[in-house]
Amino acid sequence: MQLKMALAGNPNAGKTTLFNQLTGARQHVGNYPGITVDHKEGSLHHQGQKIIITDLPGTYSMTAYSAEELVARDYLVNTRPQVVINIVDASNLERNLYLTCQLLELGAPLVIALNMIDVAQARGMEIKADVLERHLRVPVVPIIARSGFGKEDLLKAALRVASEKEEWLPLDISYGEDLDIGIKELIARIDAASFMADTYVARYTAIKYLENDEQIVEKGREIDSRTAQALEEIVAGITAHTKTTLDVFPEAVIADHRYGYIKSLLRQGVITRKFDSDRLYTSDKIDKVLTNRLVGPAIMLLILFVLYKFTFGWSEAPVAWLEQGIGWLSGFVEKTLPDGLLKSMLISGIIEGVGGVLGFVPLIMFMFFGIAILEDSGYLARVAFMMDRIFRIFGLHGSSVMPFIVSGGIAGGCAVPGVMATRTLRSPKERMATLLTVPLMNCGAKLPVLALLIGAFFSENKARYMFLFTMLAWIVALLAAKLLRSTVLRGAPTPFVMELPPYRFPTMRGLLIHTWERTYQYIKKAGTVILGISVLLWAMMTYPGLPEEKSAEFAIQREAIATATAPEIVAESLAGSEELSEQAKIYNERIAEINNEEAEVALRNSIAGRIGIGLESLSQLAGFDWRTNIALVGGFAAKEVIVSTLGTAYSMGEVDTEEPMSLGQRLQKDAHWNKVVAVAALVFIMFYSPCFVTVVCIAKEASWKWAFFSMGFNTVFAFLMAVAVFQIGTMLNFG
Ligand code: GDP
Ligand code: MG
Repeated sequence: MQLKMALAGNPNAGKTTLFNQLTGARQHVGNYPGITVDHKEGSLHHQGQKIIITDLPGTYSMTAYSAEELVARDYLVNTRPQVVINIVDASNLERNLYLTCQLLELGAPLVIALNMIDVAQARGMEIKADVLERHLRVPVVPIIARSGFGKEDLLKAALRVASEKEEWLPLDISYGEDLDIGIKELIARIDAASFMADTYVARYTAIKYLENDEQIVEKGREIDSRTAQALEEIVAGITAHTKTTLDVFPEAVIADHRYGYIKSLLRQGVITRKFDSDRLYTSDKIDKVLTNRLVGPAIMLLILFVLYKFTFGWSEAPVAWLEQGIGWLSGFVEKTLPDGLLKSMLISGIIEGVGGVLGFVPLIMFMFFGIAILEDSGYLARVAFMMDRIFRIFGLHGSSVMPFIVSGGIAGGCAVPGVMATRTLRSPKERMATLLTVPLMNCGAKLPVLALLIGAFFSENKARYMFLFTMLAWIVALLAAKLLRSTVLRGAPTPFVMELPPYRFPTMRGLLIHTWERTYQYIKKAGTVILGISVLLWAMMTYPGLPEEKSAEFAIQREAIATATAPEIVAESLAGSEELSEQAKIYNERIAEINNEEAEVALRNSIAGRIGIGLESLSQLAGFDWRTNIALVGGFAAKEVIVSTLGTAYSMGEVDTEEPMSLGQRLQKDAHWNKVVAVAALVFIMFYSPCFVTVVCIAKEASWKWAFFSMGFNTVFAFLMAVAVFQIGTMLNFG
């Protein structure tokens, strides 16, 4: 028989760490909420018993305030795991027990994993697990999830609970006289109609009605509108009463009593303080400086700038090596394979396409490594804390910071998890504003494009420009959010308190794992999605090819030159020896010119070429030529494709590979490109429609209406910006 076990707990209580310890799996461990949004499953065998473990999203509560709370609660009541491990941060007991309290009220078969006892100890606290156990009447097992200490005891207790209990036995907390009477009345009604009896015990439903839990109230109306109406009337009566006597809603009374229950519990000698440790204060002391109103942001900018310096400085050499390697590979294929479609596909489609993306692996790796340091040390949470003040100005929420950072706020994220991370936001309007603006951040896929164009046109100061463009992304995203929040998404802000976890010293192993996991995602994408799109775009750029009479014309031109040249010169250039005579070189150049022209005419005639040319009359306003248009259209499929498509588009018109040039060099030499065009292109690429995957994700998280809105809004907006940059820049002669 299989045993179902669920892990529940506050964000940062160590759920993922424990999950990994138990299942041996490796999952990302983040210092912030929003990473574990969907529940994750793993399994283990213990004493011949197969156990399926589910890692639920981290929540502070069990009311339907956020998507995570809903996911967690629905899982518990629908799947009915035989045992729920409630992981509790021992160093933050009071706040963590709030969720415990609600799990107990739900009646779930609970085992409490008292985690981070090492941290509690370091702060001079000792938690008496046996006292807690006695009062809560569920097993309490001290553990250190990070080292695996206590894991066996925990499993033992969990198996014992799983084998003992059949019925869910809810805990009764008194909510004060007024509410208790109301609850009784509600329970009588609920029992009489067996209302929601298969999901919740009557008392729980009653409390949820008092808490005005949207999900349950709505479901109630659906399944039994008569009882639901009766319940709502009783609740309205109680609400009116608490409003007049206490001037609060019943949910506030309930929360107060839960905290009261916890406070009195903790007063039973659960915590003994041996000494007041310095460690805690060290964290606080560091925070006095790092999150100081004035100095903090300056330090933050400095740290981020150093991150860019480090990333771009250190990755320069490996990126160059990889580029050389890729150049060598395409040169090799050029020499060994006969001319034809296969060769063209290998070189222009696969090597230039995928290679262009893979070439940035070192850069991405260094960037991820830097971010891992910030994240694992706990500094990223400080960044969020400081940004919170700024975010409020723009109608966003403290919890919006993480989605922004995840999406690439420090460059190199991805909007897909970013969009999903918005589930932590409780207010629908703030959530929507966040969700629509996170794709404006510089995700990992835009990074190569930024690096390419900055490298080609602003090579003197790469780190500085990169930093500037990151700032620009933030400013534009925040302004866009403000715009949304004062027009289509108008509404009041929600109050918010931000938690700061103590600083931790990152371990090398953790850093390397995080770096590798993310880099691997990138490489995997290059090998699958990007490969497919590259080949597709190559085909669109190759077919239908030249009409026969056209290619015949070019053949005649070549022949004419050949006949006009001495036969021994033609023979010499065909033999392709190392040292050519002057005449043979001239001959080769003239042939190459014709070949280039032929390739260009063919590209113009291709499907992609026609699309690019069709858009040119409009895109010229922003300085984009038709080849660039091809890349920008391709970029909708995945932003990485922009670099590879530019590579293909510009390599196709350049069949002469005697001196292989990197794409950056090609762009520098191209008449259509200059600094102003580069900035206009950067601005457009940064802000136009989110990539296909993100759009689908927005549709899933919000609706197709909003998904289309973000495509249209972003593209129009980005185009106007790019036009402004190009026109003004050209006028001022910055090119
Ligand atoms: P989750 O949000 O509940 O999934 O929490 P995580 O598993 O991501 O853990 C949050 C942080 O706490 C990570 O940096 C962990 O390494 C750290 N952590 C987890 N358990 C322990 C523990 O027992 N002791 C210490 N010192 N740190 C821990
Ligand atoms: Mg987690």
